[in-house]
Amino acid sequence: MTKLEEMLGSARSLVILGHVNPDGDCAGSCLAMYNYAEKYNPELYVRLYLQPVPDKFSYLKGYDRIGSEVCQEEPFDLCICLDCSDRERLGEFGVYLESAGRSLCIDHHVTNQGYAGENVIAPGASSTCEVLYDQLDQSLIDQDIAACLYTGIIHDTGVFRYSSTSARTMEIAGKLMEKGIDFTGIIDDTFFRKTYLQSQILGRALMESIRFLDGRCIFTVVKKQDMTFYGVGPKDLDGIVDHLRTIEGVECAIFMYETDSHMYKVSMRSNHIVDVSRIASYFGGGGHVRAAGCTMSGSVHDVVNNLSGHIEKQLL
Ligand code: AMP
Ligand code: MN
Ligand code: MN
Repeated sequence: MTKLEEMLGSARSLVILGHVNPDGDCAGSCLAMYNYAEKYNPELYVRLYLQPVPDKFSYLKGYDRIGSEVCQEEPFDLCICLDCSDRERLGEFGVYLESAGRSLCIDHHVTNQGYAGENVIAPGASSTCEVLYDQLDQSLIDQDIAACLYTGIIHDTGVFRYSSTSARTMEIAGKLMEKGIDFTGIIDDTFFRKTYLQSQILGRALMESIRFLDGRCIFTVVKKQDMTFYGVGPKDLDGIVDHLRTIEGVECAIFMYETDSHMYKVSMRSNHIVDVSRIASYFGGGGHVRAAGCTMSGSVHDVVNNLSGHIEKQLL
């Protein structure tokens, strides 16, 4: 029996939480957990709370059951946190963890220090969905649950391209395909499909990118006024950093967008050498060795200079 099955068995109420600004792995793992608990534990009162999930994920079963605002609830017996590396990233829903009788965190962030009562953290795993798959009774995974898990794996591996993709990842993906999911649709419609405006801002961000440290690093920035001009929000900027990372000669890519005056959300990616999670952690963020993020203040020049110092040290 896995830790999850053990804890699920003795609970009467369950709340499921993920990280702020949910991505495919967060939404996929939370909805897989939600659907599994609802289907196989009919006596259990189950709630899922997340900040707004992009509507491209609305094909996932249970999407319309996600609570998006903190509500008055009796303390839950069990709180399960998925794909969330620290308490703060639970955002406003962290109150449910505080009041819950017991808690379980299932995650794959190397920077996760184990903030829940019980923690199943696999820093080598491609995605939380991969870790969750091993916690579930695999014979009970139906087509809806499989679609949720597959979505998470696709998004966190960049469709099986990132170095976190292992033979085990492919094995699990294969098992999920056998459940009859629309695997090409999931990849095209949620990972590659971009609106015209998303494509335009991607093009502009690439045009304005600047290389430094002999072309081994590259950065680009999207300001608030640019987002207003194109009529796009932060979620429309997904994938820009990955384009930068694949440019020939680039070891480390930085993408930033303005969240407030002199405040930037920074995304970093590396290819072989730089441990970006160390740099992100230093600036109060976190993530993985090859993909990490943080929020930084100052001018664009300050932010890039600060990051550049840390990157250069690792490159030498
Ligand atoms: P992003 O660059 O936002 O796509 O994030 C890359 C990875 O770093 C993801 O796995 C995030 O969960 C993690 N991450 C991003 N921003 C933060 C942050 N402020 N604190 C902790 N982890 C973060
Ligand atoms: Mn995530
Ligand atoms: Mn993840």
